[in-house]
Amino acid sequence: PPPPPPPPPPPPPPPFSSRRRHTRSRLLSRGLGDVYKRQGQNFGTPDYFESRLRVGAAHERADVSLSLYQSFYCRLQNLLLTLIPPEIRQKADAFAELAHFIIKITALDMSLAIETYHSNQVHDLEDSITVCREESETLRRSLRFDTVTRVHSRAFVIQALNDRLAIAQENGVPLCAVMADLDHFKKINDTHGHLVGDKILHDVATRMVTGARSSDIVGRYGGEEFLIIFEGATLDIARDLAERIRIRVLADPFIEDSAKLFVTVSLGVAEARADDSAESLIRRADQAMYEAKTAGRNRVCTELDVGPSSRSTTA
Ligand code: GH3
Ligand code: MG
Ligand code: MG
Repeated sequence: PPPPPPPPPPPPPPPFSSRRRHTRSRLLSRGLGDVYKRQGQNFGTPDYFESRLRVGAAHERADVSLSLYQSFYCRLQNLLLTLIPPEIRQKADAFAELAHFIIKITALDMSLAIETYHSNQVHDLEDSITVCREESETLRRSLRFDTVTRVHSRAFVIQALNDRLAIAQENGVPLCAVMADLDHFKKINDTHGHLVGDKILHDVATRMVTGARSSDIVGRYGGEEFLIIFEGATLDIARDLAERIRIRVLADPFIEDSAKLFVTVSLGVAEARADDSAESLIRRADQAMYEAKTAGRNRVCTELDVGPSSRSTTA
């Protein structure tokens, strides 16, 4: 039997209409997209962007310079453009469309990479801003609070006295300042050591704060001396408030190495006058405190208890 006729030759390609060229080029573009998709990289999804960002971050971590990274992208872009087959290259529209696609996708990758480099820089900057904020907060606190006792610092309490005194004088309302000094504190240091001394200083300061009203300001004036501001309190009221603090300090023993330590405090109270400065008010409270020391310690004296002789010698 005669051999079967050969299959008819494929029909000649229809004339390359502009429309078909576009379709072909689009198919190719889609083909490249399919390659990405087959690799699990669908550039239409957030996953694709994230994976590109991860690649960029890995290069950045490996210390590949951004300009080197960018130049590789440019070379990749050029390489892909040179790989466009001649039959497409000859067709201006199809070539333009595919080239456009290649440039777009590589530019997208490149911009994602740059984004990673910059976003890491931004993160680094954000981190250093956070560190700066924390440091400035620590500094602010260290200026405001005393590190050993945790009550207000000397600078803060003196500034507070200046401010509150000016307000009290302007409004004609009473205000009292109290100097409080721990009794025989040197002996505690000498007997139990400086660290125990520090801890007791801290605990006494805490008792002073809990013994005071929430509106009162307790600050460490120096060594084992505290300055307390009683706003709105006359001398009589302030004496009672100071007495409450004195009792709160000595009420319970401080336990150190199972030994019971009683700590007492001497307090001096002075009431603000119309012409007082913070210094003059502190000076009178200090005189009253020394009066309490000479009178036997562990007590409250006011400026009215100070005799004329000690007033003139210490003023
Ligand atoms: P007085 O009743 O006359 O006030 O006697 P005092 O021993 O309390 O007074 P003095 O001024 O002789 O000694 C004060 C002591 O306070 C000496 C010093 O070592 C101690 N001191 C001052 N600041 C600190 C501190 O920050 N920590 C400790 N642990 N001790 C301190
Ligand atoms: Mg003392
Ligand atoms: Mg002292």
